[in-house]
Amino acid sequence: MSDTQTNASLFARAQEVIPGGVNSPVRAFRSVGGTPYFVARAEGPYVFDVEGRRYIDFVQSYGPSILGHAHPDVIAAIRDAAGRGTSYGAPTENEVRIAEEITSRIPGLEMLRLVSSGTEAAMSAIRLARGATGRDRIVKFAGNYHGHTDALLVAGGSGVAQQGLKGSEGVTAGAIADTIVAPFNVVPELDESVAVVCVEPVAANMGLVAPEPGFLEGLRDACDQVGAMLLFDEVITGFRLCRGGAAEWYGVQPDVWCFGKVIGGGLPMGAFGASRDIMSNLAPLGGVYQAGTLSGNPLATAAGLAALEHLTPDAYQQLTDTAARLQAGLEQAFVAAGVPAVVPRVGPLLGLFFTDVAPHDFDSAREAAENGVYARFFHGMLERGVALAPGAYEALFVSLAHGDQEIDAAIDAATEVARLL
Ligand SMILES: *Cc1c(COP(=O)(O)O)cnc(C)c1O
Repeated sequence: MSDTQTNASLFARAQEVIPGGVNSPVRAFRSVGGTPYFVARAEGPYVFDVEGRRYIDFVQSYGPSILGHAHPDVIAAIRDAAGRGTSYGAPTENEVRIAEEITSRIPGLEMLRLVSSGTEAAMSAIRLARGATGRDRIVKFAGNYHGHTDALLVAGGSGVAQQGLKGSEGVTAGAIADTIVAPFNVVPELDESVAVVCVEPVAANMGLVAPEPGFLEGLRDACDQVGAMLLFDEVITGFRLCRGGAAEWYGVQPDVWCFGKVIGGGLPMGAFGASRDIMSNLAPLGGVYQAGTLSGNPLATAAGLAALEHLTPDAYQQLTDTAARLQAGLEQAFVAAGVPAVVPRVGPLLGLFFTDVAPHDFDSAREAAENGVYARFFHGMLERGVALAPGAYEALFVSLAHGDQEIDAAIDAATEVARLL
């Protein structure tokens, strides 16, 4: 490390040795233009780049940092765990404790298995659903993102959408032959070839698009009628909307859940779970194989447990109040400047679209995301020390560390930037 290192110099070096200079495409600023800031450290609601600039952070690692960055209890738990060894290849008490904690929060979720990412959770959950039903086909919704496993990349939101891709090269026709893509917010017709319907109960990878009343209930009924499983991908909504996630929020119980992001407390961890009956199909109990060298990693379980301990009903109220305050301030800023914009919110989850009417599916979300306004707003905010995700298809994340002061500063910045749009 040298004192003169800049975002530009690091990005130049990065591009020599890492494709696009980043280890996940959404970080590359391709859809908004410019050079990514390289983070030196983060604390509470702030990230600091290598040039010493401070940003109020609404990226929050795309969700995991729900307590704010470097929360002292999470750091202490990780330090403590690290001193006892970082991976064993044998079970630990904390794996039991986190599984007990999660199953106790979510009615119907009786067993779960820990993995190392949301992608792995979704991939494994689909294999489980196919194995348990003996069926091949899966249904997913356009603009929903379930990680980068082959069968689920088609019509993906998030970085796939930002790159203007319908899916990915390198995915065989065979890998997606059994994937059916349906429009979000329309209950698809199913038949008895369908193993599982995968949905983000609140779509948070095409901006934020809430389920319309009756959509999730309709999916539940449609699945029940043909004996298909309903999978809620709660990698974003889980432990963020409320204690029991989207299933509790909407009062609709899926058969299978996927988690990630928040549950690792900022370390790599995901999970998938279901009833005891369904989970008994997994090896070593049943014939559906799934495994992981670092699954249930001691640092990740320690961090996750420390984070979950703070996620009480009061904490969710605080997150919701913070998000509502930001929503109101942003709306006011855009109205004052005469900029067409909507700021959809579901509890603590926020989105931002530069359009008149809140999008309800991928086509309408894409229209709003591709009009070029977001990139200008993004850079205006970044210049004023407020970091949003570098892409119009992402949600805005507030944390428990975002106080009135940070929210007001972000609103002031937005008020200035809106006038320039
Ligand atoms: C982020 C995300 C994933 C993938 O999780 P990774 O940890 O990035 O693999 C899957 N589903 C949803 C809904 C997500 O937001």
